[in-house]
Amino acid sequence: MYFDSRKLTDNVRRIKALCRQQGVTLAAVVKAGCGWTDVARAALDGDCDMLADSRLHNLEQLAHGGIDAATMLLRLPAPSQAEAVVRLCEISLNSEYDSIHALHAAAHRLGRKHRVLLMVELGDRREGVAAQQLPQLIERIKALPMIEVAGIGTNLGCLGGIRTTPEKLTELVELARASERQLGYPLQYVSGGNSGTLPLLLEGRLPAGINHIRVGFSMLLGRNPFTDEPLPGLHTDVFELEAELIEVQTKSSLPDGEIVLDAFGHVPVFEDLGDQVRGILSLGRLDTDLATLKAKDSGIEIIGASSDHLVLDMTSVRGAYAVGDKVRLVPGYGALVQAMLSPYVTKRPDLNAGWRRERGGLLRMVR
Ligand SMILES: *Cc1c(COP(=O)(O)O)cnc(C)c1O
Repeated sequence: MYFDSRKLTDNVRRIKALCRQQGVTLAAVVKAGCGWTDVARAALDGDCDMLADSRLHNLEQLAHGGIDAATMLLRLPAPSQAEAVVRLCEISLNSEYDSIHALHAAAHRLGRKHRVLLMVELGDRREGVAAQQLPQLIERIKALPMIEVAGIGTNLGCLGGIRTTPEKLTELVELARASERQLGYPLQYVSGGNSGTLPLLLEGRLPAGINHIRVGFSMLLGRNPFTDEPLPGLHTDVFELEAELIEVQTKSSLPDGEIVLDAFGHVPVFEDLGDQVRGILSLGRLDTDLATLKAKDSGIEIIGASSDHLVLDMTSVRGAYAVGDKVRLVPGYGALVQAMLSPYVTKRPDLNAGWRRERGGLLRMVR
C-alpha cells in the first residue's frame, strides 16, 4: 500500500482553511490509519488542531511512535480502561455517568483533571444521551471536581445513516447554551459531527455556535460521504493499493457444474458474458474489502474474491497486462482499513526524501 503524505497534508490544510474561515476547530480523525504514525504526522503537518481516534490502542501506538499532540478519544471509554484514557487523551467522548465516574476516580489517582465531551443523540441512534437527559447527566457531573466538561457533541450518519442538517446542529447549539448556564462556565467545544458536516461548511450553512468538527473519511479519501463524489480541491488518491498478477487466462464467465455454497456461505450468481480474460491478484478478502475497492485502470472490473485470490475481468484491456505485472487499486474506507489491518499488506513507509514520483503520480521508494 502506498501512502502519499503530501496529499494528506494538503487535504487537511484545505479542510482546516475552510474551518478557520468559520471559526471551527478541526480534529483530524486518524482511526483508519490504525496507529500508523506517518498518517498522524501528515495530518499534524496540515495544521489540524488535534488528533482523534476511536481506539486507545491506536493512541498508544502514536504516543510510542513519538507523536506529541492533543488527542481525543472518539469511542465511549470502557470503564475498565479509565486510567489509560486519562493518561493517553486530553478529551474523551462520553454519554454514561458510570464511565465518567470511573474517569474521575482515575483522574484523582493520577492527579490530573480529565476533560469530557458529552455526546447527545440527535437521531442516528448510535451513542449519546437523549437531549432531555442531558441536564440530569450534567447535574451529576458537577459533583466531580476532577472532570471538566469541555463541550457537547453529536454524531450522525453512522448507524442510522441520518443526514447532518442545520436544524439538528441548531438543536445542538441550543443545548450547549443551556448546558453552559447549568454548569456556570462556557463550553470550549460544540462539536458538530464528522465528515458529513463538511458539505454544510462548504455551502456556508453551518449554524453559528458550532465550533468543532471531527473529520476522517473526507480528509483521507477526499470525498463527500453522502454522495462519494470528490470534494472540491481535495485529493482522492492519498492511498493506493498495488498487487501482482499471479494468473492471466481466458475463461468462461459462467462456472461449470452444480452450484453450491461458495467459500463464504453464499450462492454465487454469474451472468453469461461469454469468454473473459481473467486476472488473479495475490490479494484477497483477508486483506481488503471488495465493496469499496476499485481498479485504477477503468478497463478492469473486479469480479470477486475469496480469502486470498482477487479475480478481475481484464477483457477490455487484453494484452496490456501479463503475469507478474502490478495492478493498482483505489481503496474506499472499508478497503483502506482492512488493508491497514492486514499483516500481509506491506505498508510503504512514507519517507518523503528517497521517494520518486512516477508517471501518474504514484510515489515509489527508491532503494
Ligand atoms: C469515526 C468518527 C468520526 C469521523 O467520522 P468520518 O466519517 O470518518 O469523518 C467522528 N466522530 C466519531 C464519534 C467517530 O466515531
